[in-house]
Amino acid sequence: MTLKERDKKHLWHPLTQHKLHPEAIAIKKAKDCVLIDEEGHEYIDAIASWYTCMYGHCNDYITNRVYKQMQQLDQVVFSGFTHEPAVELSEKLIEILPQNQEKLFFSDNGSSSVEIGIKMALQYHFNKGETRQTLIAFEDGFHGDTFGAMSVSGLSVYNGPFEELLLDVKRIPTPNGENNGDIIAQLEHIIANNKVAGFVYEPLVQGAAAMKMHDKNGLELILSFCKKHQIITVADEVMTGFGKTGTYFASDQLDIKPDIMCLSKALTAGLLPMAITSCSLEIYNAFYSDDIAKGLFHGHTYSANPLACTAAIAGIELLTSKEIQNNISTIIAYHKAFGERIKNHNKVSSVRQTGIIFALDLNIKMERYGNLRDKLFKFFMNHGVFLRPLGSTIYILAPYTISKPQLDKIYSTIESALEII
Ligand SMILES: *Cc1c(COP(=O)(O)O)cnc(C)c1O
Repeated sequence: MTLKERDKKHLWHPLTQHKLHPEAIAIKKAKDCVLIDEEGHEYIDAIASWYTCMYGHCNDYITNRVYKQMQQLDQVVFSGFTHEPAVELSEKLIEILPQNQEKLFFSDNGSSSVEIGIKMALQYHFNKGETRQTLIAFEDGFHGDTFGAMSVSGLSVYNGPFEELLLDVKRIPTPNGENNGDIIAQLEHIIANNKVAGFVYEPLVQGAAAMKMHDKNGLELILSFCKKHQIITVADEVMTGFGKTGTYFASDQLDIKPDIMCLSKALTAGLLPMAITSCSLEIYNAFYSDDIAKGLFHGHTYSANPLACTAAIAGIELLTSKEIQNNISTIIAYHKAFGERIKNHNKVSSVRQTGIIFALDLNIKMERYGNLRDKLFKFFMNHGVFLRPLGSTIYILAPYTISKPQLDKIYSTIESALEII
């Protein structure tokens, strides 16, 4: 039996309606930017396996480092213990994070990092003796699938059945430059009627909202409003972090830095699951007390796993290298040229780009999980390119190690796909 067939017996896949999509593609091997399935077909991983493997799959520099660490220390409780990989990672990460970030709290997936960010924001006020329990979030944000993260997300296809059980969240539109004043008016109204603890947002690019890119000045206005009203700002950089927007973090491009940041996905270069919620000293100090109950009583068994920390250290070393920084500039320029070429195509309504994140909207309405979307996905796969259209958006978020011929193949496959829809 093939893997594909054996898979069907016991496995339940994420974000999948198995009755409509019974077939999974069995991947046997991955190297650099290429995935190879069990029949030997090759696919260029044009979305870096959900924005994780930014330095290519099975990168020798990273795997060798982790292999060495495996022979030294595999896992230890992180409550009451510490170890070299966690300490070294903290030093390296703080170096590249926005300047106000001082403390790191570990978990093991992006949703949990947001969950922890929300708990920090809520307990910050609680510890200061204030009751603030409402959160603010963007209408079409996505922050993960656990309850807190789901609450601040806006996509009802995921959280519909649980709506009644979610945290109290007020939603505002994403700023587009024209609605900025209107958003501030909405915020005034929200704070007049609610005690707001925090604002959770994806800075500059909203991944699951189909790489929606918003107005920087508008976001700056919202952040400045939050600061003025002691609303804790929680930047979810799970997708945007580690170079994708052209700077180490999207928040680097904003004047107002977040109080709390959520990191995962590319944090460990796609090798191992890990997440970090970082925060400023002001947040940390609200928990630092002689009173034990003021501590943050949250913990995951695999917190700061030494192997995951080692992968993250190696990832940061690559990210900050001249070679990867040059690659990022090159990809940005190639995408720009492709955007110029494709933007006037009669099936394309608009193109947009932030850093190495490129997206184009088709001027055809498509359902998020509808037939046309499936047809496009199949077309890309049949042509050896792994792209995952979101609604009527096709986006590219390839590893920094992608070659020019591979990028050209992605571009030309997209151009051919426009002819079949
Ligand atoms: C993927 C993602 C998450 C959730 O991370 P998981 O590791 O899948 O739980 C949260 N926020 C953003 C912006 C993401 O892209």
